[in-house]
Amino acid sequence: MLKDPAGKIYGVLGYPVKHSLSPAMHNAAFKGMEIPAEYRLFEIPPQGLDEFFASLRENNIFGLNVTIPYKEKVIAYLDKLSESAVLIGAVNTVKVSAQGLEGFNTDAEGFLKHLTEDLRFNPAGKNIVIIGAGGASRAIAVSLAQAKPNRLNIYDVDVTKLLNLADSLRANFKTLTIHPARSIAELKIKDCDLLINATPVGMKTADPCLVDADLMHEGLLVYDLIYNPKQTSLLKTAKEKGAKISNGLGMLLYQGMSSFQIWTGKTPPKEIMQKALEAAL
Ligand code: NAP
Repeated sequence: MLKDPAGKIYGVLGYPVKHSLSPAMHNAAFKGMEIPAEYRLFEIPPQGLDEFFASLRENNIFGLNVTIPYKEKVIAYLDKLSESAVLIGAVNTVKVSAQGLEGFNTDAEGFLKHLTEDLRFNPAGKNIVIIGAGGASRAIAVSLAQAKPNRLNIYDVDVTKLLNLADSLRANFKTLTIHPARSIAELKIKDCDLLINATPVGMKTADPCLVDADLMHEGLLVYDLIYNPKQTSLLKTAKEKGAKISNGLGMLLYQGMSSFQIWTGKTPPKEIMQKALEAAL
């Protein structure tokens, strides 16, 4: 039995999870909409996961975000998955209800919403490059594949991860042209329309720019999933070369808004959540 809905608890499950901006964003939203709820950090080591999931209801927990390293591991604890969570093979949002535990992936829709609505980029028919084939890349690659690009070129230093992602995209999107590249040079960045960094390279200020400045051009949109720092060396270089740029803060905002909607059934307060994120950064 679920307890009294007053004072519902939500939170982000990860290990480690201390630096997450999600509590600031969701607590501001709950406060702004006068919803009696609290969003917490759940830093749970792998050996504590069974107990954590077994005691969700007892602890009045009605929803979770899930982050590194549990986006795939949590699937074993869930009763139902959304279609996109199945395609991506990872979950970043869990809804706890009387029907059970349902998993969603709002990273994919958050990215696509930011890209298409705020940045006004339509992926249909475009040449797209993604660097990185980890968890975030899987989500954005599925959302882009659904939007029918002309070509999707992907590179990762981890060849196994790269080929697994390419195989799963080929299996699910039969008409998609996908090229797993063996080097950055093979990505054909000079004639691409959208270049995405889905690696952690750029999070440290000393990190190198992954792409040679000469490959950047006007007419290119460079999207870095990193939002802290606000401008990575990749984005700085791209801007100097006349390309349009975006960091990943919009994706973070929209994935959070989608999670909020899934948990509460209410329209999320965009401005409040955006301001809270910017203040927390
Ligand atoms: P991940 O699962 O660790 O994937 C990153 C991938 O990049 C790994 O396969 C890694 O390979 C590869 N890589 C590392 N250095 C590389 C290089 N120089 N060239 C090519 N590939 C390289 O991480 P993730 O969860 O996908 O996150 C990736 C980035 O996206 C992080 O910076 C994260 O903060 C950001 N992110 C942002 C949002 C948002 O809302 N804006 C959401 C999710 C993630 P190895 O494992 O072999 O190093």
